[in-house]
Amino acid sequence: QIKKVNEDYFGSYSSFGIHREMIGDKVRTDAYRQALLKNPSLLNGAVVMDVGCGTGILSLFAVQAGASRVIAVEASEKMAAVATQIAKDNGLWCGKIDTKSNKNYTGGVEVVQSMVEELDKFIQIQPQSIDIIVSEWMGYCLLYESMLSSVLFARDQWLKPGGAILPDTATIFAAGFGKGSTSLPFWENVYGLNMSCIGKEVVEDASKIPIVDVVDECNLVTNAATVQTFDLATMKPDEVDFTARVELEPKLDGLSSISNEKENKPTLCYGIVLWFDTGFTSRFCKEMPVVLSTSPYTPRTHWSQTILTFREPIAIALGNFSAEKSSTIGTVSCPASKIQLRISIARATQHRSIDISLEAAGV
Ligand code: SAH
Repeated sequence: QIKKVNEDYFGSYSSFGIHREMIGDKVRTDAYRQALLKNPSLLNGAVVMDVGCGTGILSLFAVQAGASRVIAVEASEKMAAVATQIAKDNGLWCGKIDTKSNKNYTGGVEVVQSMVEELDKFIQIQPQSIDIIVSEWMGYCLLYESMLSSVLFARDQWLKPGGAILPDTATIFAAGFGKGSTSLPFWENVYGLNMSCIGKEVVEDASKIPIVDVVDECNLVTNAATVQTFDLATMKPDEVDFTARVELEPKLDGLSSISNEKENKPTLCYGIVLWFDTGFTSRFCKEMPVVLSTSPYTPRTHWSQTILTFREPIAIALGNFSAEKSSTIGTVSCPASKIQLRISIARATQHRSIDISLEAAGV
């Protein structure tokens, strides 16, 4: 079963479209490029492992940045062949390495076709001999695809004590969204006709399966809160699965921009948006730390955001809300002053996907 899932997964990375999308995501690719090229004291002469090299783009950046050797690991047969060709075409291929004498080693990129978990079948790498691990492992909602485990595996096998991992932090955030990000209003009035029964069904489905879509900052009705932070240099492999408790507070800006009024009216929160940042922090990137953000406040990326819809919207208002104003929101008499969330994310038994559970209550 897992073999089949992996075949499908790596097969999906054999199409060039997905690599075009990732490389074309300038926010993503520039973040990695800057972290590699603008931190010469880290990269100079370093031995690097690129976990899941795809086209090899990060490996090529690493060599351009002064790395002496890059082991580019890629499970997809097709992409490993393509990455090899690209390294050759750019004069950055290092030829076959004689692992015993290490004599033929000329510097540059070496692509190995393998799952990183099976790498020792194909190439001998001394334990704790890698200076830097670089990987673009993030999926939707950070953890979809479950590739982080593969990066941690490589870390534990080959990274030198104190070696760098790029990026070295990853943080998941949540914020509540308002009417503008649900399809309810659309179905309430279709050329003057009420089709809200469809809207209800759509919301019911959306409360079971997260939706990946772009959420505009102006549709957020709460502050943003940190759900979970991962320190890739120190975390244990089983910490990939977690449960977090989070409190969201109404955001005056969001409320006023939606109601188009300055006064503190209650508003409905229809669900939460999740997104992530990854950090190339000053711990390793001393000359130029970089943050790759996929938030609704920053330019969009191919990850968009992940939307989880509540079964029922929750009415919220800032603490100083006065009860008389409740008439303005129809059925809602007592809006909550904050929303408490309990969020669990765990790798699914069906490897590669994730299970997200969300409980939300207005208090
Ligand atoms: N580094 C490239 C590609 C990132 S996409 C870039 O930044 O553009 C992730 C890549 O990792 C895919 O090509 C996928 O096939 C590969 N991959 C995922 N898990 C892997 C594993 N366990 N071992 C080797 N390669 C893996």
